[in-house]
Amino acid sequence: MATIGVLAVQGAFIEHEKMLSSLGAECVELRSAEDLKKKPDGLVLPGGESTVQRKLLMETGMYKPIKAWLDEGMPVLATCAGLILLAKDLSNDTRTCFRTLPVTVRRNAYGRQLGSFITEAEVRHIGPMRQNFIRAPYIEKVSPEVEVLSKTNGHVTAVHYKNQLALSFHPEVGHDARLHQAFLNMMP
Ligand code: GLN
Repeated sequence: MATIGVLAVQGAFIEHEKMLSSLGAECVELRSAEDLKKKPDGLVLPGGESTVQRKLLMETGMYKPIKAWLDEGMPVLATCAGLILLAKDLSNDTRTCFRTLPVTVRRNAYGRQLGSFITEAEVRHIGPMRQNFIRAPYIEKVSPEVEVLSKTNGHVTAVHYKNQLALSFHPEVGHDARLHQAFLNMMP
């Protein structure tokens, strides 16, 4: 059974834990450097507020060890704010974080009024999926080696690169666990 470390400093981490547990994974909440002593098989970076999460990662001393895990290739599932933390560049902010995913992301890309919506779109290798966007970012530019998995209104909303699966939307909200299963299938 895979053990998944779920960043639990802020945001929608419980929903990820419920979904991963229902698929048979064991979840460990990561709140302090102490929680990183035992290395999990994979990592979840949940939605929330990326600027707050970034600040707490620095303050708790978790930034460096998690960055090292990602550099070593630990599988990661990142949603929304998590995508912002992984992005190499942000087009409308300077506060990048782990920078392991070669994409350029726009924060709050859908504006504040229309920031939250649900749509259905095709996800490569999976099929049509209901997608929940909450003040979401989208991906403006991808490096050639990044696989685009989904698009909405012409904008990239899901990508796969090496062991990193990153999404603008929130599959942990609802009952469709297919992307979480795809993430668990990435475990060594
Ligand atoms: N707007 C948030 C940010 O910039 C992300 C929103 C989310 O994670 N639902 O961090």
